[in-house]
Amino acid sequence: MQTVRQKIIELLTEEEMDARELSRAAGIREKEVDDHLAHIARTLAGKGQKLSIRPARCLSCDFVFKNRHRFTRPGRCPRCKKSHLQSPSFHIEHGNI
Ligand SMILES: [Zn+2]
Repeated sequence: MQTVRQKIIELLTEEEMDARELSRAAGIREKEVDDHLAHIARTLAGKGQKLSIRPARCLSCDFVFKNRHRFTRPGRCPRCKKSHLQSPSFHIEHGNI
């Protein structure tokens, strides 16, 4: 049987997804996606692959949350204080294993 992490890896190898899309596709809660991604990032690093993260972005002023290392969506923009934000999204790059 395929584990949740294997499923997430498979999904992210095929396309870029955010936490909400992953939770729906893998059948887990959005909160759990965070933990799985942290673990997956470490596993991939050991294989010479990389979990690439497109940082969250403010849709109002275009502020990019570059220094944010968590995988979940931030609450609101530190620059314009609005909460119209695009979630961070994830993708696994094919590397040479
Ligand atoms: Zn903003």
